[in-house]
Amino acid sequence: MAEKEKIDFCTTCRKEAGYTLQKRDIKKMVKDIEYTFSITVAICDECGEEMGIPGLIDKNIQEVDEQYRDYKVSF
Ligand SMILES: [Zn+2]
Repeated sequence: MAEKEKIDFCTTCRKEAGYTLQKRDIKKMVKDIEYTFSITVAICDECGEEMGIPGLIDKNIQEVDEQYRDYKVSF
């Protein structure tokens, strides 16, 4: 595995900890219709809590945006 270990500050552990990126489904109401979006979250390897990784929020917004566009096309 050539992948570099991902480490960032975990606010729950209060220290630098490794994390794993996972996909999670979230539900979001847009104009009275509920959509399910799959976003990427960072899970702390030590406590299992979600970590707020810089740049991930931007990625989530992009993911939701793309999937919402796909929903609109299929309706
Ligand atoms: Zn942690």
